[in-house]
Amino acid sequence: MSSDVFFSTIDSKKHKSPLLKVKKLINRCAPEKFFSKNELIAVKTHFGEMGNTAFLRPVFLRPVIEKLNNIGAKPFLTDTNTLYVGMRTNSVDHLYNATMNGFNYSTLQVPVIIADGLRGDNSTEIEINGDILSSVKLAADIATADGMFVVSHFKGHEVTGFGGAIKNISMGCSCRQGKLDMHSDSKPGIFADKCTSCGRCLSFCASSAIDMSPKATINENCSGCSMCISVCPQAAIYINWNASSASTQSKMAEYASGVVKALKGKIIYLNIIMSVSPACDCYPGNDRPVVGDIGFAASTDPVALDKACLDLVCNAYGGTDPFRERYPEVDSDIQLSHAEKMGVGTKKYKLIEVQ
Ligand code: SF4
Ligand code: SF4
Repeated sequence: MSSDVFFSTIDSKKHKSPLLKVKKLINRCAPEKFFSKNELIAVKTHFGEMGNTAFLRPVFLRPVIEKLNNIGAKPFLTDTNTLYVGMRTNSVDHLYNATMNGFNYSTLQVPVIIADGLRGDNSTEIEINGDILSSVKLAADIATADGMFVVSHFKGHEVTGFGGAIKNISMGCSCRQGKLDMHSDSKPGIFADKCTSCGRCLSFCASSAIDMSPKATINENCSGCSMCISVCPQAAIYINWNASSASTQSKMAEYASGVVKALKGKIIYLNIIMSVSPACDCYPGNDRPVVGDIGFAASTDPVALDKACLDLVCNAYGGTDPFRERYPEVDSDIQLSHAEKMGVGTKKYKLIEVQ
């Protein structure tokens, strides 16, 4: 059994607005069947790191928000704090960054909420039956929403091959500890030369896992919550980015299953296949796109949607995968196949072109 993926090309002979195309795609996914009046609906996107310009243009969120408003739902725009230290590490910096990148009330007329709280530890644990994980730690304000509309910038990714809807609902919907679970197979470490022995990490660690002698060190009690990373004023606490691509992708697929479970499947997905940069929007810059702008695709199945978008990009690149060419050691089919195995969706799709 295949899933429908609705697609509109960027090509336009009559100056038709891309926003009208996106509107039609949204309608084909029948949001009225998913969302109801007064429901709190998360509109999940990625606000882009400061300095990056490849991230999704905020204007593409307008048709989504308008549709949710017409239904009578109460949409809110959301993203989660990052694991790495940057402009999206805590909600204060993150909201400033979002505003500067155009995701704010004055441009979109909806509140912006960082879904995992001030320091990325506001989470809800959801049990799953994964091959690797028995539970996932999700951003609380996403896990407890009534539904979600996921709008993703489809592009390359150095760890996962590509980043699309699956990545947005896994890495993008987890709290900081969840991101650490997916990215690392060990606990954080501390750069002794950067540590000023201020003791701030010690006062925030709930597991008595930090010793001061006189520099901070992490002991065996560490639960991997990663709170210390966000509170260190010296950026002295580092993440061991040591999980393999296969491990990260498989855990992502399991996190995606937890998100679908938490939201009872009330999720619609829209991918914007423009500015298809080779790497993540979390970098403070971006490289030349690997292909020209392709268009827009929407579905109620994130696996089918990402597979269709990957195929569209490969076709535009002459029939080969530009991401695999750049990251030959990364097999992006792992996230698709494991998500399929976890019941998140199917790789089989029917591409329906919408004019
Ligand atoms: S917060 Fe950072 S600088 Fe302060 S003691 Fe901990 S590791 Fe050292
Ligand atoms: S990751 Fe959490 S438990 Fe481990 S040292 Fe840091 S604050 Fe403590």
